This record gives sequence, C-alpha cells and structure tokens, in this order.
Amino acid sequence: MTFTHRHLLGIEHLRQDEITTLLDLAEDYVTLNRATQKHGDALAGLTQINMFFENSTRTQASFELAGKRLGADVMNMAMQASSITKGETLIDTAMTLNAMHPDLLVVRHPHSGAVDLLAQKVNCAVLNAGDGRHEHPTQALLDALTIRRAKGRLHRLNIAICGDIAHSRVARSNIILLGKMENRIRLIAPPTLMPSGISEFGVEVFDDMAEGLKDVDVVMMLRLQRERMDGGFIPSSREYYHRYGLDAAKLAYAKPDAIVMHPGPMNRGVEIDGTLADDINRSVIQDQVEMGVAVRMAAMDLLARNQRALQGGAA
Ligand code: ASP
Repeated sequence: MTFTHRHLLGIEHLRQDEITTLLDLAEDYVTLNRATQKHGDALAGLTQINMFFENSTRTQASFELAGKRLGADVMNMAMQASSITKGETLIDTAMTLNAMHPDLLVVRHPHSGAVDLLAQKVNCAVLNAGDGRHEHPTQALLDALTIRRAKGRLHRLNIAICGDIAHSRVARSNIILLGKMENRIRLIAPPTLMPSGISEFGVEVFDDMAEGLKDVDVVMMLRLQRERMDGGFIPSSREYYHRYGLDAAKLAYAKPDAIVMHPGPMNRGVEIDGTLADDINRSVIQDQVEMGVAVRMAAMDLLARNQRALQGGAA
C-alpha cells in the first residue's frame, strides 16, 4: 500500500501515487454508501473526535457519517468561539483530549498552521478539516474524485478555479493536488482577490471570465470568504455577480461538456446562478457532497491501518 502517513494535514505532503491510492479506496466506499447496508468495520473499536473551532455544516456531518459507517465511536466536541484566540488553549485542549486516547482527531481551525501544531502534540492520527486559508485536504480529494468520475481521468484537463482565491484553503489545496496530477490550472479572480506571486505555482492568471473560461473542462467556483476579509475587496455583490458570477452565458465560453463545481456553502446570485447550480446536466455539486463521505472514509481507513502498523498490530 502506498500511503504511509500518520496524519492528513495537507495535500502538499502527498505524492501522486498516494493520491491515487486514496481515491481508488474511496471508489469502494462510494459503492458501499450506495448499498442498503452501509456498514464497514475498518474503524471498529476506534474513537474519533471531531473538533471544529470554526462553523461547518457539510464537512462535520460528512466526517461524522464517515466514521459511523466504518464502525468508529464518534464524538463531536462543541468548541467555543472564545477559546480560539488563545494559543495556549488549543494545546491544552489537545493534551486533555490526548489523555482520553482518541485514535482519530478531525480538526478545523481558523488559524493557518494550527492543525499542524496540534498534530505535533498528540499521539493519534490528525486530519485537517480546514485551517485558515492554508489547506483543506479532504475537500481537494473529494473534488478530485468528482472530476475523475465525471471526466474519466484526472490528468491533462483544463481546470478553472474562479473567485476568492486569496482567502481560500479550497483553492490552495486544489491548486496543489491538480498540479501534482498534471493538469493545466487557470485562476480567475478580480486583482483584489488574487494572491500576489501566485503565477509561480505554474498556473495561468486571468481577471476576465470570458478569457479564463475559454475551452476549460472544469469550472470550480469559490465562495467569497467574507469572514477572512477585513475591508472592501469587492465593490458590491451585484457588481461581483455581473463580472465573476457563473451563469449560462459565461459557462458557454467553456467546453460544451464542462462541469460546474462549488465546495459549498454557496451564495446563489453572487458566485453562481441558482438555476445553473441545480442543473444536473452541468453541475456536480451534489456529487461533491456524496464523494466527500467516501473520501473521508478512505482517509480515516488508511490512517487507521498505518496506526495499527506503527503499534505493531496487523497492518
Ligand atoms: N466549506 C469550504 C471550507 O470550509 C469552503 C467554504 O467555506 O467556502 O473552506
């Protein structure tokens, strides 16, 4: 098995073959999740704790379901917003939890790097469920699985990532993953939402949707991360929608069979036209949610196997 990590902290640590291993295993879990009996036993007897220091709907639900389907005891900790500003508290919380012997810790935190720091302090496997604007590895993996299933491959595709690139961990993890799998990536955003120096990552940069979307296979829209903006990054929601919101007219610049993605939660009429988001002939947004559970099952399964191997048990 080519996946030897102790934690899943970011796509930057994964090799191409490891990404493929994880996606292949996730395919098995897609099948299991579509069956009437959805139970596996890969995590039987293990304890999974979800610690979300930032709001989440689909990611937390998805990790919870993934753990339960594989037989883990899953606990959701209600993390208070007040505890997140104190660096000490994060480590204290980690040490307290560590003493309870969890096997898997799923962590979301508003500060970039906080999850890596926590991983250094505990004995169990840590999965990054999103840290600040740094990484959101399971999102990129579920996006990759969705693309691979829709397009039949995950290489040599033209993929446009559009919107609030500057504040997005989804964009960052996707740029790294899709680049490792040898795709051509185009970033489309107003200059205020495009990180400086980004073209060094081997991507093409556009500030115009008509130019950027020309002949792409995949259009990935992003949410405006207002919680990470401390000023006026866009003139108004209306103006933003007019220039960067995806509607049928702008999508017509892409290939006729281009798919439309959004990680959610989406702002209809700001980032994307509501009718287009619901159009099952173009939008794979619901598939992304489905793939999310399967990818998280695969990730926790692989980490649990590695943990058993480290402890000298059956691999
Ligand atoms: N759910 C994704 C995240 O946590 C995307 C978003 O919130 O816009 O980063």
